[in-house]
Amino acid sequence: MKFIIGNWKMNGTQRDKTDLISAISQTNTDNKVILCLPFTLLCGLDNKIEIGAQNISEHENGAFTGDISAQMVTDTGAKYVLVGHSDRRLYHHETNKIVRSKAEMAIRHNLIPIICIGETLAEHESGKTEKVINDMLLECLPSNGEFIIAYEPCWAIGTGKTPTDKQIEAIHKIIFEKLSVHGFASTPILYGGSVNSNNAAAISSVPHVDGLLVGGASLKSETFIPIINATK
Ligand code: PGA
Repeated sequence: MKFIIGNWKMNGTQRDKTDLISAISQTNTDNKVILCLPFTLLCGLDNKIEIGAQNISEHENGAFTGDISAQMVTDTGAKYVLVGHSDRRLYHHETNKIVRSKAEMAIRHNLIPIICIGETLAEHESGKTEKVINDMLLECLPSNGEFIIAYEPCWAIGTGKTPTDKQIEAIHKIIFEKLSVHGFASTPILYGGSVNSNNAAAISSVPHVDGLLVGGASLKSETFIPIINATK
């Protein structure tokens, strides 16, 4: 069983959600499929598929106009939440410290945070990937509780470029070893960034890849269902 998590980002209507969930429900798979939807689509779901949000506030509640708390997300029936996605780090200046606060807040409210980490293109090209990943893990990991790690190189997100299988294997091994040192050896480690139906089988077979985080290709059943079927 592998995790296949769709990240819809700022896309999708009620109709899109109904269509995709119906297609997923008719797909025979051992994989665990989760959709991380915009807040507007979290309510009114049946139990056919597990749902996550894409962000929460690091604050419990209060005067934070426009923000959504972990408690509110739990209240919708969602079970997961992405924290520290590179879009949030880039456009909303979320630091590792904020990411850790959000992960701990999620856990306090019975959500499983999917903690996203990954190096920028400049860091990749200057050979800093390993250091960036180690620092992110050190600074973002919650002290305890259940969570998932998603390794998403920023330069692979939405670009059609992916690291080689060997590069993915090397980084996932580093992540696994670091998690093991901190007592989190059974934490799932997902790969994300330009996953499609052509590369899903190979990437999901890389050692220490426990699943895939899929952006653009998760929006439509024509591109998402083949990924679910290809992932072993
Ligand atoms: P992508 O996005 O699959 O469109 O590259 C992945 C993500 O941002 O989670």
